Amino acid sequence: MTDTATPESSFTQALDQYHSALEAAQELALEHLGAITERPVSTLATWETMRAALDEPLPESGTAPDAAIAEWVERAAPGIVGSTGPRFFGWVIGGVTPAALGGDWLAAAIDQNAGMWGASPAAAQTEAVVLRWLKELFALPAEWAGAVTSGATMSNLVGLAAARQWASEQLGFNAAEDGLAGHPVIPVISSSDIHASARKALGNLGLGRSAVRIVPSINGRLDLAVFEEILARTDGPVIVVGNAGEVNTGQFDDLNAIADALERRGNAWLHVDGAFGLFAGASPRFRHLLNGIERADSVASDGHKWLNVPYDSGFAFVRDERLLRSAFSAAGAYLAPAAGDGPDPMHSVPEMSRRFRALAIWCALRADGRSGYRAMVERCIDNAHDFADWVSETPGLALVNSAPLNIVSFRITPDGADEEERDALTRAVCRRIQEQGEVFVTPTVWEGRAAIRAAFDHWATTTADVAVLKAEVKRAAGLP
Ligand SMILES: *Cc1c(COP(=O)(O)O)cnc(C)c1O
Repeated sequence: MTDTATPESSFTQALDQYHSALEAAQELALEHLGAITERPVSTLATWETMRAALDEPLPESGTAPDAAIAEWVERAAPGIVGSTGPRFFGWVIGGVTPAALGGDWLAAAIDQNAGMWGASPAAAQTEAVVLRWLKELFALPAEWAGAVTSGATMSNLVGLAAARQWASEQLGFNAAEDGLAGHPVIPVISSSDIHASARKALGNLGLGRSAVRIVPSINGRLDLAVFEEILARTDGPVIVVGNAGEVNTGQFDDLNAIADALERRGNAWLHVDGAFGLFAGASPRFRHLLNGIERADSVASDGHKWLNVPYDSGFAFVRDERLLRSAFSAAGAYLAPAAGDGPDPMHSVPEMSRRFRALAIWCALRADGRSGYRAMVERCIDNAHDFADWVSETPGLALVNSAPLNIVSFRITPDGADEEERDALTRAVCRRIQEQGEVFVTPTVWEGRAAIRAAFDHWATTTADVAVLKAEVKRAAGLP
């Protein structure tokens, strides 16, 4: 506590400090947002720079709250990335809509514990409503259960935890209750494009990262013939991870064909990673990419990417609520519900106490509605397709894949250069674009070859921003 907030000072007296702290934060936040299209998008600050800026012992004495906030911004500035702006095409990041930002700030101010109904009926009911709205937005079955999470990694964990419960029941035990020790490995099948976060979730769940039997991909999509062969060689309950929106290309597995194969075999759980790909479901123009998703048992997605709410935010859906609860329910005398209570969110998620993340989602969906999100998703995909068309028409550039959604990966391919030279050039051009700081793209490797990735998932990216991206690629690649 600062000198002015001694133990004797009352909460009412501290209101002045809340005021000045929030005012300082608001002013600095608006300064950041106001300069976002003028400042360099990237910073590329080294560890050395950031240690010099921030690393020091715990301060002995305090300072005023507004001064502390201003001091952090001043010192950390070299490392603050312009990722909330419309010309940031790196990874899959997304920005923050005004409504989402306001909702998130309010969530911190009212500081509700969204774990239990009793701790915040408002938070618990809002969470139930945003899960309903998200199912409606993506045309998912209304009766599915859901969970608000911190991102798609945790959403993968939630869906796969329910899968683990199901598989262990098939094998005659309860994984959450008894653990996995002494039981056979539960096979997981996915394509070579399984996201690193799904493997991470399998590791955390004790299913094991190495439980995954990999089916090769053809152009970013699971090879169905090999899948059927591997499926025929597995015994007992099997978990399949389908990919809806592969991270380098935005490709979708054929979910109906996978579900057909699983239906013929029986004794299978289909989990779908739709971290950003699920958003195709917000548009009747692109919903067909997800055909068959309604046959999944669990689906994982992200809020902080294409929904454009602040970090951290994600959501998961599970067909069978009983399995979700059997994975995560917790009991304690001091946690008993009172008469008239609604459901406690904590029984459907890994945490107990938790941030009221649903408020930012509620405000975002309330402010933009179904039509606003549909238009935003379509704008992003149209921008991506326009960029992809430009790449394929420009001599010296080549797409690595057909780019069906909002991710475009491409290579620098001048005539006369061999593939190794093209790799080196592609990596160099990506770095040159990052250093220039007009736009931000990130490097990747696709089918063994270097590529540059551009992801289109910011709510406010315009065709003018896409024109800047094209100009930057041309400049960095030395194209006429
Ligand atoms: C981003 C992503 C994840 C992981 O999501 P986080 O939000 O980083 O936890 C999982 N799967 C896919 C396909 C992704 O793009």
